[in-house]
Amino acid sequence: MSRVYNFSAGPAVLPEEVLQEAASEMLDYQGTGMSVMEMSHRSKVFEGILNEAEQDLRNLMQIPDNYKVLFLQGGAHLQFAMIPMNLMKNRVADYIVTGQWAKKAFNEAAIYGKANKIASSEDETFSYIPDCSDLPVSPDADYVYICENNTIYGTKFHTLPNTKGKILVSDVSSCFLSEPVDVTRYGLLYGGVQKNIGPAGMVIAVVREDLITEDTLPGTPSYMKYKIHADAGSLYNTPNAYCIYMCGKVFKWLKKMGGLEAVKVRNEEKAKILYDFLDESNMFKGTVRREDRSLMNVPFVTGSAELDDTFVKAAAKAGLVNLKGHRSVGGMRASIYNAMPVEGVKALVEFMKKFEEEQHV
Ligand SMILES: *Cc1c(COP(=O)(O)O)cnc(C)c1O
Repeated sequence: MSRVYNFSAGPAVLPEEVLQEAASEMLDYQGTGMSVMEMSHRSKVFEGILNEAEQDLRNLMQIPDNYKVLFLQGGAHLQFAMIPMNLMKNRVADYIVTGQWAKKAFNEAAIYGKANKIASSEDETFSYIPDCSDLPVSPDADYVYICENNTIYGTKFHTLPNTKGKILVSDVSSCFLSEPVDVTRYGLLYGGVQKNIGPAGMVIAVVREDLITEDTLPGTPSYMKYKIHADAGSLYNTPNAYCIYMCGKVFKWLKKMGGLEAVKVRNEEKAKILYDFLDESNMFKGTVRREDRSLMNVPFVTGSAELDDTFVKAAAKAGLVNLKGHRSVGGMRASIYNAMPVEGVKALVEFMKKFEEEQHV
């Protein structure tokens, strides 16, 4: 067996320990004689898996009792529509557009009502987070929407926007569980789990209870109502059971590591190794404004598309894979999620140093 260092933006690296544990339970989950994949989602055993996963997530994020945790299918993209369908009571919402994912959510919301772009960083290829301390928040806006960590561009909101009393809705797909959060600052936060938590195919939404109502936009399909899923405890229909099981294992892994405070320290340490190198390198440069840098996704360039390409290929040969930047921006991107060991980041920096030296002789 030979594992690589996988810098993919998602689906992404999972903790080796978790994969091994899942492998050991593949044929016989705790004496049931079957895999979790083969189990009824209405069984006592699966009920236990689901409840434990929710409880562990609640403990990790210190989710208050007046928030529901929903395990939903359809990925982050379905939330782009579900959010306006459920929350756009006045048919007005404000969007802060800091990248492709926020833009997609904004465009989707415009199908259902008046979506206002109240700030954007598109003028500089989304390489920064705009000042959000005093935005023209619409008086009748139902919510203010952000994408908290911009996976493609490598920026992160280190300060949440001043929403002037409006509900904050946040896509946390690529920074989920990367550091502690104050859930009470949000009306709704959600993320696709395939970036920092588990396998693809599921979203976890944490929604304040009073926002979960029957009062959705006319024509909203039952399946797209938060209330349907909340009332059924995420078991309205067959859930992505195996994914919930895997996420549950990752929650336990994070708890064992010491919880989100400890996770943050570790993530900062990892990111610093890479950013420090980018700041001193003559060949590789980070592309993001320093104060807005993400701990999770680190884009960088050499300045030459040809050299970028050579680098990505050489790195892959050395077992450092998926370093190619998003197709819309080019260059390189190292996604260093929770499950990327510090050794992986060190190996990447060593390789970059060596590559730089070799190119200069
Ligand atoms: C990957 C990603 C998405 C899209 O997720 P899907 O599950 O493929 O719909 C949305 N938002 C962010 C921030 C992402 O990183």
